[in-house]
Amino acid sequence: MKTLADLLAEGVAGRRVLVRADLNVPLDGSVITDDGRVRASLPTIKQLSEAGARVVVMAHLGRPKGKPDPKFSLGVVAVRLGDLLGREVLGITEITGQAAQAAVDGLADGDVALLENVRFDPRETSKDEAERTGFAQELAALAGPDGAFVSDGFGVVHRKQASVYDLAKLLPHYAGGLVLAEVEVLRKLTADTARPYVVVLGGSKVSDKLGVIENLLAKVDRLLIGGGMAYTFLKAQGHEVGKSLLQEDQLDTVRGFLAEADKRGVELVLPVDVRTAEQFPDFGAESQPDPVVVPAGGIPAERMGLDIGPDTERLFADKLADAKTVFWNGPMGVFEVAEFAGGTRAVAQALVDSSAFTVVGGGDSAAAVRQLGLPEDGFSHISTGGGASLEFLEGKELPGVTVLED
Ligand code: ADP
Ligand code: MG
Repeated sequence: MKTLADLLAEGVAGRRVLVRADLNVPLDGSVITDDGRVRASLPTIKQLSEAGARVVVMAHLGRPKGKPDPKFSLGVVAVRLGDLLGREVLGITEITGQAAQAAVDGLADGDVALLENVRFDPRETSKDEAERTGFAQELAALAGPDGAFVSDGFGVVHRKQASVYDLAKLLPHYAGGLVLAEVEVLRKLTADTARPYVVVLGGSKVSDKLGVIENLLAKVDRLLIGGGMAYTFLKAQGHEVGKSLLQEDQLDTVRGFLAEADKRGVELVLPVDVRTAEQFPDFGAESQPDPVVVPAGGIPAERMGLDIGPDTERLFADKLADAKTVFWNGPMGVFEVAEFAGGTRAVAQALVDSSAFTVVGGGDSAAAVRQLGLPEDGFSHISTGGGASLEFLEGKELPGVTVLED
């Protein structure tokens, strides 16, 4: 696999380099609430620009439905990228076509431009390879005859999409610094892992994450489960979970996990108490009704579990204390509101206090760490890609990485 270092050694001065970055930041209206991904994309862009490349960054934002939608415009991101880079970033309001080509043709050596959201074009995410290739050809045309492609959007390498996958087949391609660093860290979690190896899972995308559990049961010593997925486990053990998030259709799968953990001697740790409310919190409200802590074994019918409770915070911290390797994905509760952020804070703090190799994966988990004011350098690595890191740990191939190999 060729890397950014190889490209720099070849020489990039005057060449147009297309960089796929992951700039999919959380927004509140048009305000970026966490610019972690923009900052993570800086080193690769900076090195190319300083070496005299004409850098054309491609990225997506949110899930526009294959057509332009001002809500998902990358305009604000171009401004933030420019501020952080310390040089102006030209926000191109098109993706491909004549206007985009003219803008790219106007770049001078070292200039940086950001194309509009690639997902404004339905071909970016099309299941039809010919459609995606057509779009990738238009992107490749922007780079011209001596152009190059640098894949640096780790958060999207698990997607077979035009600007991630198909474009690599059309241009000389290189792995960017971020993709390389992420893959290297994740490899440490899959081979020769220092033990005890403890994984903490939470969050709300329960069915997305069940796949990783199956694979992890063969690798970890301990699995701590909080967040929205805990309730499907509690229910599978026969407990009432009230109005909590529940994946009814996965109960059998989860019962299988419980049996498998038992068989393999993996310690599967579930919450012993939870903080509950009668309604899902209104994020816009000043404050929430006081949470009620109940035993995890008996959530009243009219309440829902929205965070792990204080006894569980201590239990989880205790189960993390002797770990040598920790991977954490998914908040322990609805951390967006202060009343239900305690569990996530406690787990994050336990990782900061730990001397283990600690990796945080997941967009919301990484945002939670920063939002709760924990020191980023308190963790060995904060991954920019939730889905991508989970799929890697599941043992799945990442198409956006594999395509760089040939
Ligand atoms: P990540 O992006 O880190 O992979 P997810 O996207 O899976 O994490 O989940 C993050 C979301 O999970 C947060 O918005 C949080 O509010 C929500 N969440 C956590 N615990 C619960 C719960 N008990 N009930 C409902 N939602 C929850
Ligand atoms: Mg998320």
